[in-house]
Amino acid sequence: MTDELLPYDEVMADYEPVIGLEVHVELSTATKMFCGCSTDTEKEPNTNVCPVCLGLPGSMPAINGHAVESAIRIGLALNCKIAEWCRMARKNYFYPDMTKNYQTSQYDEPICYDGWLDVEVDGKTYRVDIERAHMEEDAGKSLHVGGSDGRISGASYSLMDYNRAGVPLIEIVTKPIRGLGDKAPQVARAYMAQLRDIMIALGVSEARMERGNLRCDANVSLMPRGSTTLGTRTETKNVNSLRSVEGALTYEIQRQGFVLAEGRKVRQQTRMWQESGEYTIAGRDKSDAEDYRYFPEPDLVPIAPSREWVEELRAGLPELPAAKKARLASQWQFSEREMTAVINAGALDLLEETVNAGCQPAAARKWWLTELSRRANEAGVELSEVGMSASQVAQLQKLVDDGTLTDKLARQVIDGVIAGEGDPQQVVDGRGLAVVSDDAALGAAVDDVIAANPQIAEKIRGGKIQAAGALIGQVMKAMKGQADAKRVRELILEKLS
Ligand code: ADP
Ligand code: ZN
Ligand code: MG
Repeated sequence: MTDELLPYDEVMADYEPVIGLEVHVELSTATKMFCGCSTDTEKEPNTNVCPVCLGLPGSMPAINGHAVESAIRIGLALNCKIAEWCRMARKNYFYPDMTKNYQTSQYDEPICYDGWLDVEVDGKTYRVDIERAHMEEDAGKSLHVGGSDGRISGASYSLMDYNRAGVPLIEIVTKPIRGLGDKAPQVARAYMAQLRDIMIALGVSEARMERGNLRCDANVSLMPRGSTTLGTRTETKNVNSLRSVEGALTYEIQRQGFVLAEGRKVRQQTRMWQESGEYTIAGRDKSDAEDYRYFPEPDLVPIAPSREWVEELRAGLPELPAAKKARLASQWQFSEREMTAVINAGALDLLEETVNAGCQPAAARKWWLTELSRRANEAGVELSEVGMSASQVAQLQKLVDDGTLTDKLARQVIDGVIAGEGDPQQVVDGRGLAVVSDDAALGAAVDDVIAANPQIAEKIRGGKIQAAGALIGQVMKAMKGQADAKRVRELILEKLS
């Protein structure tokens, strides 16, 4: 890291950060945007290609209807207006990742525009205004060989894989967002997280950030407090995790803060987030008036979604994450904080399933967020892959409710379920874990403990009922924690009255 940074608080004292997020969503359509090639990018390089996505002369593209439908559904979920008529456009540039020498995109006629999304940070709601969501195609992947860090400078040659060229993308661009104060990086992160959850709810994208299904270019500038003129922005490209979105913006805010505090000017440039060291490095300088010589795509017909179709798609939208969260929080009577913990643990759907299987919400939360989260962490797996299903958690709690298990025994049952010993009842039977409440077995243990502790027994006979605690403890110990403590207490008091 070579940049000097101003402490975050000092930047905030003098400047207001303004952020702008460009998010690319890779759609999970079976075929590419303008041809019938498969979107499976993991295949042997350059096997999912054809004259259209390679841009060979004379080939004619045709738009993927499923991609258009996904674009509209995304737009509707983001409260956008849907264009009555729009076109694709050619964005001309010369670079080997696109053999056509242009990317088919949208320019001044995006299919979705003027939307918004509300996100929550620390219990406060922030509105993110969305400028547009447009359709475009992805480019190929380049592999620079021979350099030190996979970058083109210093490489001896480059390899190209065009399997990804032509895969449908939706680019969602926000307006410049002001008024976030020191929360700006966190709002950006929450926005990304919510976009991801929306894409999953809509079923339009795998939305796996680590696989590049969701990529963010994070723009930020600083404005002196009290000013209304936007400052010069930098754009950190292809930020691929929620943590990095927050990290890259925080870093840029502090870096720009230092530059401005020294009386220098921020250079308008793209930057790259270095995951390893958590800093950004300069890419290329960039002017606003980059000349891509956009013009409407002559080989594709305009897109004119009928209002009937748009309304049909609107009516068919699933319940979106924010609405679902609000509904469940009120049904389950969870506080904001409890609900956030559930969501951050990735346990919302599991909890819902567990409650649907007959478990009390608070009990379901307890098991998923404590015992099962801990085991998932230790094993390094997702909560949903921990080895215990929602229905098994509900069965477990039922055994606790009916007195078969104490919480302590229940934890051993969880171990058994995860170890593959079957459903909770099978583990209880197999390991002999049930609480003993049978008077014959308990009575004998109680008699032994009374005989071994004559002084305590005498106190209880004399009316010091609190002393019973000591005897209960010993009975529990003798029975390896499997005694019904309530019944033990009753028996002791009966025998010593
Ligand atoms: P480009 O293609 O050059 O990246 P776009 O207009 O597609 O430009 O996206 C730029 C993003 O940055 C948008 O989200 C926009 O709202 C935001 N933005 C524009 N100007 C500023 C600024 N001065 N400070 C912060 N964000 C900005
Ligand atoms: Zn193709
Ligand atoms: Mg950009």
